[in-house]
Amino acid sequence: MKKGKLILFSGPSGVGKGTIREHLKFKDYVFSISSTTRSQRPGETHGVEYLYISQDEFKAKIENGDMLEFATFVDNYYGTEKKVVLDLLDQGKNVLLEIECQGALQVIGKIHDVVSIFVLPPSMEELESRLRNRATENEETLQKRLKKAEYEVELKDNYKYNVINDNLLDVVRHVDDILEKEFNEK
Ligand code: 5GP
Repeated sequence: MKKGKLILFSGPSGVGKGTIREHLKFKDYVFSISSTTRSQRPGETHGVEYLYISQDEFKAKIENGDMLEFATFVDNYYGTEKKVVLDLLDQGKNVLLEIECQGALQVIGKIHDVVSIFVLPPSMEELESRLRNRATENEETLQKRLKKAEYEVELKDNYKYNVINDNLLDVVRHVDDILEKEFNEK
């Protein structure tokens, strides 16, 4: 059976990764549910957006070698379990990881033939205003996320594709074009 392919969908916090993904016409993938130690936001459900686990549980997974990738992002751990993803790929399913840069670079270093897409904000000012409008963070965490974003944007050349989220319809079309090309040509 033909193996599935990994789609790496990355970009700074607040850039709109989730919104873009929800609007894609391309649906031929399984969304990888990450584990995190950050607290659940109102409206989020365990097992849907994330698996919310304790620091000790997360550390145990790292020590057991269970993680395909992981990162500390603004005081919390986030990561992808290896077995789930590799099993899905073996079953011929495409898997989409929506993750930040540190983890994305680990995946690029480990797995051959990854469709890696980095979403850029039109400007850092625009990113700040989006994060503020989202209102999920307190001021301190928001500042930390913005600082991290500056570093993340510098890593954009590690990805096969860069797209700018300046207009939702345009960026969705752009990402759909990339996925169409990647999955229908081969
Ligand atoms: P948030 O707290 O806003 O849900 O996520 C913070 C950042 O962590 C986002 O950029 C998100 O894409 C990223 N993230 C989510 N899951 C994972 C994961 O499994 N691994 C890594 N490295 N980053 C993740």
